[in-house]
Parts: sequence; C-alpha cells; structure tokens
Amino acid sequence: MNKLRFQAIQDAVSRPQKAFHSDQKKSTLFASHVFTKKAMRTFLTKQAFNEINEAIEKGTKINRSVADHVAASMKDWAITMGATHYTHWFQPLTGATAEKHDAFFDIDSNGDSLEYFDGSQLVQQEPDASSFPSGGIRNTFEARGYTAWDPSSPAFIYGSTLCIPTIFVSYTGQALDNKTPLLRALNAIDDAATQVAKFFDKSVTHVQATLGWEQEYFLVDKALAASRPDIMLSGRTLVGHAPPKGQQLDDHYFGSIPTRAINFMRELEHECMLLGIPVKTRHNEVAPNQFELAPIFEEANLAVDHNALLMDIMGKIASKHQFKVLLHEKPFSGINGSGKHNNWSLQTNTGVNLLSPGKTPMSNLQFLTFFVTAIKAVQNYESLIRSSVASAGNDHRLGANEAPPAIISVFIGSQLSAVLDNLEHVSKGKLSPQEKTDLKLNVIGKIPDVLLDNTDRNRTSPFAFTGNKFEFRAVGSSQNCAIPMTVLNTVVAKQLIDFKKEVDGLIKSKKLKKDDAIFNVLREYIKTTKNILFDGDGYSLSWQKEAARRGLSNLKKTPEALSARMQENIIELFDQMEVMNPIEQKARYEIQLEQYIQRIEIESLVLENMSKNQILPTAFKYQHMLIENVSGLKQIYGESFAKHAPVAMETIEKISALTDTLTSSCAALAKARIKANSMSKIEDSAQMYANNVLPVFDKIREAADGLELIVDDSTWPLAKYRELLFLR
Ligand code: ADP
Ligand code: MG
Repeated sequence: MNKLRFQAIQDAVSRPQKAFHSDQKKSTLFASHVFTKKAMRTFLTKQAFNEINEAIEKGTKINRSVADHVAASMKDWAITMGATHYTHWFQPLTGATAEKHDAFFDIDSNGDSLEYFDGSQLVQQEPDASSFPSGGIRNTFEARGYTAWDPSSPAFIYGSTLCIPTIFVSYTGQALDNKTPLLRALNAIDDAATQVAKFFDKSVTHVQATLGWEQEYFLVDKALAASRPDIMLSGRTLVGHAPPKGQQLDDHYFGSIPTRAINFMRELEHECMLLGIPVKTRHNEVAPNQFELAPIFEEANLAVDHNALLMDIMGKIASKHQFKVLLHEKPFSGINGSGKHNNWSLQTNTGVNLLSPGKTPMSNLQFLTFFVTAIKAVQNYESLIRSSVASAGNDHRLGANEAPPAIISVFIGSQLSAVLDNLEHVSKGKLSPQEKTDLKLNVIGKIPDVLLDNTDRNRTSPFAFTGNKFEFRAVGSSQNCAIPMTVLNTVVAKQLIDFKKEVDGLIKSKKLKKDDAIFNVLREYIKTTKNILFDGDGYSLSWQKEAARRGLSNLKKTPEALSARMQENIIELFDQMEVMNPIEQKARYEIQLEQYIQRIEIESLVLENMSKNQILPTAFKYQHMLIENVSGLKQIYGESFAKHAPVAMETIEKISALTDTLTSSCAALAKARIKANSMSKIEDSAQMYANNVLPVFDKIREAADGLELIVDDSTWPLAKYRELLFLR
C-alpha cells in the first residue's frame, strides 16, 4: 500500500476516539444560546418586548429607540454568555452563509475602552462583501450592499460570537441574498392563505408555511479524504473503482451506527440543542457511511436558517472528530447520493395544519381546498419547481434511478385519488341538499379514516403527500432550502389568490353559497390536474414516455432547467407576487448558471491534474517495473521469453492502452473546456459544459478506474472506495 494511504489508514484505526457526553437534559439545553422570546422577556422592558414581538408576528417596523434598547439588552445577554464579537449572519447567493465579525470592544471619545453595540449596529451593517456574486445588480446600481436585521429569526451565539440573522440587499433595495425573496414569498403565502382560510374560520389572521427538512450526508475519514484532491476541492470523487462490498447487501440501512459516527452525532446534536435547532431523528441511510438528521418542523424562515446553520457547524464538528462531512449530492459513483427532503405545510395562527384533515366535514373541505390548490400550483409551474432544485451536483441524482426523476409529479395515494374522483363529479352550480349530505357523510367525512390507512408511500415520487404535509424530495443535500421554499410558497400563494377570486366570482355572479362555490372551483381544478398526478414507479422508463405524452417537462440538466425561470410568465409571476423583480430574477439566473459552469470547470481541472500528476506517473512506474521484469526474463530465456511472461506482457499492453486513453481524454477535456470558456453567451458556455465537457469525465474515469484495478496497490496514491466507505 502506498505510504501516505497506509499512514492515513493507520491513523484512522489507531486514533483515540473523541467521545462526547453531556449530562444535561436536552430540554434544559434547548435554545440556551439563543436570544429567544424568553430571554427577551428577561432582558427587555415590557414595552420593547411587545413592540419587537409585534414586529416578529406581524412584520411591523421597529423604531430607533426600541432598536437601541434591544441592541443594548442583546449585548448584555451576549456578554453574560461569553460573547466578545457580533456579526450580521446572512445567506449570499453562493448558497452558503457569510459573516463579518466585529468586536463589541470600542474606545469612546474620552479614550475610555468599553463594550459597545447600539441599535444602528443591530439593524444595519455594511459588510465589505463586494466579492459575493450579485449577477450585475450592484454594478448597475450601487457599489455595495448592506445587511439588515431579520427580527423574525432570533439572534444566537456560536463560539464567542453573537450572530444576528440578516437580509443582504443593495442600496436600491434589490435582494442580494436568498433570504429576502423567501421572506417576501412567505409574506405572500401568509396573505393568500389567510384569505382562503377565512372561508372556513373567520378568526384566522395569519398563516405560516412550515418546513421540516431531512438532511442526508456522508462521513469519511479526514486523513483519507485528504489524499484525494477531488474530495477536497470538489466535494466528490471523480475517479475510484466500486468496492467489492458496496450497498448491495443493504446492511447499512437502519443498521447500527458506528461508534465514531455516534460520537460525532452526539456532539452535533448537543450543539444543535444549544442553538435551538430541534433535531429529533438520526439514522443510517442506504449507502455505507451515509446518515440522515431531521429536526422537528418549524416556521419556514427559521427552518431555512437552521438548516444553513447546521450545514456550517456540521463541517466544524466533523473536523474535531477527524471526519470530513460530504454534503455533495453524489460523492460516490455507483452509490446512492444525498438529498434533503423538504416537508412542507401551512399552519394557521389558530394552530390548524391546513393540510391535515379535521374532525368536521367543513374542516375537511378546508383541507381539500388547500390540498387541491397546492396540486394545481405544482401542475401549473412544474418546470419552475424543477428549476428550484437545479445544480451541477443534483444533476447526478435526479433521474439516476435512485432519487426522484427530473420530471415533477405528485403522489397522493389511491385513497385520496378516489376522493378526488368523487369530487370531480359534483354537479355544476348549486348542489342539491341530498348530494351535499352524501358528500359530507361518504366522501369528505371519511377522509381522516382514509388517511389513517394511507400507509402506502411511494418513495419514487418527487412531490408526495404524506398524510398531513407535502414532501418535496428532489431538493439537493447541499442546497439552501430558501430557493425551493421561495418557489413553492410563491406558486401556491398565486394559486390561492386565483382560487379566492374564482370562488368570490361564483358567489357574486351565480349567487352560489360559499361551499357550493368552493365545490365548483375544486371540481374544475381536479379535472385539470390529472396530468401531474402519478402513483406509479417514478424510476421506470415507461414513466418517462408517459410523462412526455402528458406534456410534462423532463429537464435533466441544469442549464435547461434554469432556463425555465426566464420564461415570460415566470418573470411576471414573481414580479406580480412581489417576490422578485425581473432584475433580481435575471441576476439569480445568471449567478446559478455561472456557478454551474464554475463547478464543472473546477472539477475538470482537478480531474486533469489528478490524471496527469498522480494516476499516469503511478501507472508508468508500475509499467516500468513490469518492463524490467520482462527484460530480465529475456536475458534468462532469450527469444522464448514470451512463454514465461504472458501476464506481464499483457499488463504492459493494457497499461499502454489505458494510459493512451487517459492522455488523449485529458487533451479532449482541456480542448472542450477551452471552447466552452470562449463562448460569449453564458447560456452557450453552460450548454457546452453540460454536453461537451462533462461526458469526457466518464471516459477519463473509465481509464483511471481500469488502471486502479491493475496497478500495484502499494503504489496507488488515492484512497480507494473500500477505504473511504467503511468507517473504522
Ligand atoms: P418520515 O416517515 O418521512 O420520517 P415524519 O412524520 O417523521 O415522516 O416527518 C418527517 C419530517 O416531516 C420531519 O422533519 C417532520 O418535522 C416533518 N413534518 C411533520 N409535520 C410537518 C408539517 N406539518 N409541516 C412541515 N413539516 C412537517
Ligand atoms: Mg422523508
């Protein structure tokens, strides 16, 4: 075995494990590092608390003197917790999180030192963040952006820093981050869903979207990962032969979690508890070394922040345990990738889950209204929804027979399908009393029982109804959930607005009663949403054909998926819903295309380097050894040497063939990359990366993996799959 690899494995085996224990009860730890409402009540005056509470709940403005007071209290609280610095914590369009730390420490005009933090520093900060991608927005308008406090997501302490969740906008108010459009979309769904919920309960004044994400990830040993430039620089393996023992035995799924991984998880969960991230479940996933962590669901904005925070702290805690955490959607070829299911629902201020059937026929009609409207929204905007999960990493997953396909469809199960079939046949206009009684007793009255039986879950569906929520399963593991959540909440809000208009229209023009009007609109929605409903096997080839026949899009690659965002009706939708103006949309589109290009460009450079600097030299060395062997045999046996060295001769030839292919493929890769980079339009460049650059990866990989199989293991420079994928 190669010395470095050997050393890394020795390290992994013999290293003392970092155990993690905490005697404190989870419930007392929970959110102890968060400036929660409880902490605010302790540290703020009553008036300030009420004002800030109203700002959180209703989005009202906070005046300067209250902001000063909150800032002073926040500082006092943070200092008692040991914080020395503060930062505005935001989510730039890179999808990661960003922060710029400033010390509380200051020197006043008398030259005295003190700890200082006032309202203006709380509310607004100007980070020197001009190198974050802005898609030309900042060039067109002002030079810099600024961050502004989001009081709806509480401040928290991480390490010795008080982190204040903020939005990131340009001076002209254009959103430069992922949070701003999300907050606007959540506002839109709040308004739209409240209006519709009022049909059923006048006391509803607010509706919030809820999100429960399920984060999948891989753990690999840090020392082994360090032997692989591909993992270090691109987050995934670009070469590597499949191990003799992979996931075919299925023994990892729900199996016992290795002790080393448990220690990491314990510390991660402890940290999550302090930060108020309500993690609840952890288990092994399908692939070796793959795990999942899921919290209790929360209000969507908070849940998005918590996921972004989690992804950040996972890396830090993994490092302490000598792990590298891989959030990439497809770190290993031939082995299941990672996703991040987004469980989504709507909840009223009165505590009702609008996607959960209730006890009365009326509450079930409410459930059906939101259920059918959501399906209709997905049907109308399926390609936009697909685009919300587009990335270079996720392209390896969607449609690769392990994750939901790139075709968006909705699974609702046979029982709810039967309910919709019944509703499809309600009379036009006014319903007879008999029909209504029938519906109430036999159709919608039975929904709760039906749902209890509804255990048949279709794992192949990208958008599945799972009893009291929809589960959007196509989201990538490394993604910021803000993007899919912005899209989903916007399209459903739009559909709810239309629904309300149509119902009001029927009440007015046809003098229908409210529930008659609702039945009538739902009937039409059900008729027109058949195309998007699919309960079969989403992985099958026949579904691809069937979906094409139905006119559903199948956007397999990021460039084509993203182009769905630039359609006129989509630009109009976001603009009209006041979620993103056309400039903000165009900026995001370009940034994501750029990121796609950059990702593949980096991967291609890494692959070329690894081939030329590591794989080829190793192969040549081994080949040389064989040649020496053969020439020695020739000296002994003379011309009849070949009889004595058939394997060596054959291997020498195989190595020549594979190294030739590897060399010529590297040249082809460089050529394709240069051509792609020379395109003047970013779309053309992205297309070339997708269609001309990426396919060469496979050729290189095939040759490299062929060499891995025949070259002396003791000289192979890269940790192998079998070493990376089994935790010791
Ligand atoms: P599963 O069998 O898929 O694990 P669970 O019921 O445990 O199903 O839920 C999975 C995820 O769905 C969890 O993260 C949970 O918090 C979330 N979830 C449950 N109810 C809701 C809801 N009303 N809104 C959003 N997410 C929810
Ligand atoms: Mg799930």
